[in-house]
Amino acid sequence: MNLKKINLLVIFALTYCFFHILETRLAIKPNLIQRLSFDHIFKSNSVKDILKALIKQEKSIWIVLEKILCKTKQECITLKQHNEWATEYKELEEKIITEHHTATPISQENYHLAHEVFNDFNVDAQSVTLVQSNSLSPASSTDTTLFINEELFNTMEPLVQEFILAHEISHIIMKDHSTDFVIAKLKELQNINSDELNQAINLLSQFIEARADILASLHNEEYTLGHILFMVDELSFSGNTPYDDYPLNTTRLDLGEKILDLHASNTQI
Ligand SMILES: [Zn+2]
Repeated sequence: MNLKKINLLVIFALTYCFFHILETRLAIKPNLIQRLSFDHIFKSNSVKDILKALIKQEKSIWIVLEKILCKTKQECITLKQHNEWATEYKELEEKIITEHHTATPISQENYHLAHEVFNDFNVDAQSVTLVQSNSLSPASSTDTTLFINEELFNTMEPLVQEFILAHEISHIIMKDHSTDFVIAKLKELQNINSDELNQAINLLSQFIEARADILASLHNEEYTLGHILFMVDELSFSGNTPYDDYPLNTTRLDLGEKILDLHASNTQI
């Protein structure tokens, strides 16, 4: 074998190794995607087991993120407590509140409805600020504020309104808005193409949304019926367009239907 051939072989071997390392660093294990299908969650037939499965699922996503994005495990776990980012998040939250705030206070009717949902979820009403907003969603939230756009919200059926509030309150309980902030920071730092739906970081965003649906819907059958009605409306209004940070509407509808079956089987027992 001449020197030229050996050189070519070495270059080939090094290129192969480089791409292999790159691939293993960026690839998501297929079993993670499988776990994010939520099917495994419904193999267990009790609320307690579903909640346990959700916690396990979140942990596995952070473990994958740790491999892909964070330099050390500690860095990944403490991202939300990162001083600079914590200050930045507070500033962002204030900016959102100022931007979306309208002078009109929340109506008595919606104030009472929100407080009923706070009670159902054992949330101290004093810890959440209720704000009438002009945002594009009927309801949205940061870690400490619940926004309601009454112009949109009041056009919805009562069951759907209750589910939407429960979904947002689940976000507030889990402090999801600041996790979304961390996700956006990581995407920026790592220059991640946000269109790739199966990126671990996007799977975490999708998980957060699905978890808010699940936690709201598991509470009782009324919330589940609101969940299903809302998803049927969403599907007929905006179809099944994939978003990087939301599960498909069909997946969200499927979750609602599975939880309704779970409620029905628990009632029979
Ligand atoms: Zn949400």
